[in-house]
Amino acid sequence: MKFQIVEDNPQIADAVSMALEMRWPEAALVVANNGEKAIKMAEQEKPDLIILDLGLPDIDGFEVLKEIRFFSNVPIIILTVRDEESDIVKCLERGADDYVTKPFRQLELMSRVQAIMRRHHLVSSQVLPSCETLHFGQSIHVFFVGKTRVSLTSTEGIILSHLLRNAGKVVSLSSLSEVVWGDNYSGSNEAIRVYIRRIRKKIEATPDNPSIIITHPGIGYSIQKPR
Ligand code: CA
Repeated sequence: MKFQIVEDNPQIADAVSMALEMRWPEAALVVANNGEKAIKMAEQEKPDLIILDLGLPDIDGFEVLKEIRFFSNVPIIILTVRDEESDIVKCLERGADDYVTKPFRQLELMSRVQAIMRRHHLVSSQVLPSCETLHFGQSIHVFFVGKTRVSLTSTEGIILSHLLRNAGKVVSLSSLSEVVWGDNYSGSNEAIRVYIRRIRKKIEATPDNPSIIITHPGIGYSIQKPR
């Protein structure tokens, strides 16, 4: 296992490294202290998970996230002092898997990392669900709508597989929150909405007027089984 930390503040980078080392002593750690290095490193080192600071000296974390998503679906956790909802939404829209705000509590960061790794491995080891022309490829990162291939992040794949496994039923927001974050920490319903919006952009012909993932206002979402 390999973790990549992107952080320009050496003290925070050390604190994150130490926390990861305590929990995963065997894991390899690579650290980038600016955005350009971070993108190159993600491409060359192929980490299993990236912890990404938003405020970097050269290009900001939003840009780094966008660039990395052009070539990789590696799970990315944003680490940021900005806890404004709009920044968090912007990160999720650009394909972040989760976020932790600074000053971070070690336990919370570790739980988030662990939740992502666990759910990723869990879903990868299961038989991936399908429904008529909707099906996964060889991993949760690859999805087909008919013959059209789309690429998904871990979180998108986990949400879509949960909806597909329950095709024909309404899946509640709290049930989606549980598959994404486990029962220790839960994110906001707003975050779930952003993930759904991202998935729709990828799989729906008309994302604003969806025909695959149906919204049940205030309750949750469903994928309809074709009659
Ligand atoms: Ca910083």
